[in-house]
Amino acid sequence: MLPGLTSLRQVLRKDLRILAYHRVLQVDEPTAFAFDLNEVSASPAQFYAQMQLVKRHYDPIRFHDVLVAGSGGAPLPPRPLIVTFDDGYDDNYHVAFPILRELGVPAMFFVSTGHIDSGQPYAYDWLVYMLCRTGARRLSVSELDFDQPIPETLTGRRALAKELLFHLKALDAVTQATVIARLGEAWGMRPEKHAQCRPMTWDQLREMHAAGMEVGAHGVHHHILAKLAPAAMIAEVHDSMRTLRRELGAPVDVMSYPVGGPDSYNAQVIDAARQAGFRMACNYVTGVNRLPTAAYFELQRLSVESEMDLDWFAAMTALPEVFAHRKRVRLG
Ligand SMILES: [Zn+2]
Repeated sequence: MLPGLTSLRQVLRKDLRILAYHRVLQVDEPTAFAFDLNEVSASPAQFYAQMQLVKRHYDPIRFHDVLVAGSGGAPLPPRPLIVTFDDGYDDNYHVAFPILRELGVPAMFFVSTGHIDSGQPYAYDWLVYMLCRTGARRLSVSELDFDQPIPETLTGRRALAKELLFHLKALDAVTQATVIARLGEAWGMRPEKHAQCRPMTWDQLREMHAAGMEVGAHGVHHHILAKLAPAAMIAEVHDSMRTLRRELGAPVDVMSYPVGGPDSYNAQVIDAARQAGFRMACNYVTGVNRLPTAAYFELQRLSVESEMDLDWFAAMTALPEVFAHRKRVRLG
């Protein structure tokens, strides 16, 4: 290819990598921690090393930069990468934010606004907590034909919780909430604020936003949008946007679909996101985004997991086609 065309191609076509994190947390004693360990993406030390690597090998950018480049503004740097977090756990503020600030890496925090408002733990987390701590002997969920003894050991209970969540997420969102609430009542464990599973506050998000971090939507109640009735789905999308704009006093351009697998959103959800004024959205499907793309409402991500050492992380970001998790069961 002619040199001119090569450089033109480099300007026009780029691979946008988007990393997906949930929690950054040191769990020293897993037995004293009763929430979902699968939500812990990295320890503070792992995260620090990963962000150093990102700075060395990539050009960390914001979604805002993608929008600017897409509308003819400043082109993207050669190796664009965006760091994202889903849900809104307060370790994002206490642990990840200071590291990002120190290293000068921007990030996007997708938060479920209802949990920022209430301070209550996320529903799937609470389900894991209940199963880890309940004194009940059996787990019965008629909607799923599920009836199993609850193991004595914490490891056994975590495995059971993982299996239950896998099946539960196939149900419609209202039934999911009903099942979780019913188990809570039967076991005398109604959701309550808990230091190990605390959402960030609006003040914390405003501070991060003022320091150059981006904040986006992740629904209101973290319901799976494709599993809601149309009016409820549209309300989740619009209300999350409205609340974020009000609390941040700034435009909100991007959302990520709760859970985010192929079954968690559809053409109606994408339509609702456009109608609400979002300009891009992330799913939780593994992949790199070749820009320019027609799929700005289905941006794929690379999920970071706590079992990845730095070599694996480096390989996964460099060659995601080979090293990223292909099939995964995750809460998103
Ligand atoms: Zn989520």
